[in-house]
Amino acid sequence: MDWDEFAHWGKHISDWGAQYHKSLRDLPVRSQTAVGDTATQLHPTPPETGDDMAAILADFEAIVMPGMTHWQHPRFFAYFPANAAPPSMLAEQLVNTVAAQCMLWQTSPAATEVEGVMVDWLRQALGLADGFTGVIQDSASSATLSAVLTMRERATGYTGNKDGLSGKGHLRIYCSDQVHSSIDRACWVAGIGQANLVKIPTKGAQFGIDVDALEAAITADLDAGHTPAGIIAITGGTGIGASDTLGPLLKVAAKHDLYTHLDAAWAGSAMICPEFRSEFWDDVDGFDSIVFNPHKWLGAQFDCSVQFLRDATPQLNTLKIEPEYLKTTGDAVTNYSEWTIPLGRRFRALKIWFLLRSYGLEGLRTRIRNHVAWAQELCDAIRALDGFEITTDPILSLFSFRCPGDDAMQQRLVDALNDDGRIYLTQGAFQGQKVIRFQVGQFDTTREDVMMAHAVIREVWEQIQ
Ligand SMILES: *Cc1c(COP(=O)(O)O)cnc(C)c1O
Repeated sequence: MDWDEFAHWGKHISDWGAQYHKSLRDLPVRSQTAVGDTATQLHPTPPETGDDMAAILADFEAIVMPGMTHWQHPRFFAYFPANAAPPSMLAEQLVNTVAAQCMLWQTSPAATEVEGVMVDWLRQALGLADGFTGVIQDSASSATLSAVLTMRERATGYTGNKDGLSGKGHLRIYCSDQVHSSIDRACWVAGIGQANLVKIPTKGAQFGIDVDALEAAITADLDAGHTPAGIIAITGGTGIGASDTLGPLLKVAAKHDLYTHLDAAWAGSAMICPEFRSEFWDDVDGFDSIVFNPHKWLGAQFDCSVQFLRDATPQLNTLKIEPEYLKTTGDAVTNYSEWTIPLGRRFRALKIWFLLRSYGLEGLRTRIRNHVAWAQELCDAIRALDGFEITTDPILSLFSFRCPGDDAMQQRLVDALNDDGRIYLTQGAFQGQKVIRFQVGQFDTTREDVMMAHAVIREVWEQIQ
């Protein structure tokens, strides 16, 4: 392909993209294809000779698009959003086109410096104290793994990487029973082990960790000769939005000199609104590490996860490695690949710059405030449906409910709704029973889109009786 053809097809794809997004409301949100439908349409062997772009794009539309679930659909209420605001998509097109690998300052100074400033813009946007620095990672899972490795190294006097974990006893990490599975997996791969991830029950309206039980667990572990290494807190858990009360948890951490990490992958975006900060984030400045995903609610196209660090030194002491071929100009510059597990890095900061400049914080706050208000309104409407029960009230814009009937009936309603296609939602678990999760957060959703869910739920429920 020459560059004139590249320009031609680039314009074609831009036009196609605008049309696609304008037509989203007419498409079923969740892909309606069956298992294997896509794979059977692809050639089983790779081509020996090249094809032209017109044919490739025609197949893309015919074969691939029917098998896509439309994550940017305004009536996507499943999981959490993966919002891609149009300016962030344009930034990604530029990043894709320049196609730099930004592992070191010198491999693209601008990428490093834009990243440093964007992390600081977001620090200010979230109201975090001066002095927090940070790094952009691919996912909250990677940021949490980085924090767990740091807990491990700090608790072993930075000898784990060097000598391995043999003979070091049981390193213990504490969290509530509402944490995301990425916390479990981080403990698996860090060599801590599932058995040493201590999950504490929750209490209260926001399902925060029971701090007395946390303190008791740590004390019992010390008595047993184990080594407490860190505490992982959550703001906005995936299941029902569970959020820990941060101050008391931090007090326990300080008493036992434990490293702390806060997982706010989803809810962190809402903290650009000061009123949510005072509800959820009192004392947040006491955490050693905080992760939130601008690629969820905020609108920075996937992938984009920011890890803030109160002091980067422990994580650098854990992850920094400098073989001869990566040595550059020394200490005067930041080489962000030393802060994370992968060496190679995409230029993820550009889309944050485009996003924040296009909407301003006030534009983004308005969206999030609307989502929270509409979730409450829809929740009240579902509560009034005959026999329906709200199992957890909205925490920010996430709530859960049950229709009349057993767990199988909940799944039947979810499947019927997703087969219908006008809305998309998913099931979850709460207190041992199946619930239906509902989150409002799509970048371009409207009040009408959200309230339409009420009509669709009622209609589909009647159909399956
Ligand atoms: C989505 C989510 C994660 C995982 O995020 P990734 O970026 O996909 O790794 C972790 N914790 C919470 C609370 C989440 O909502």
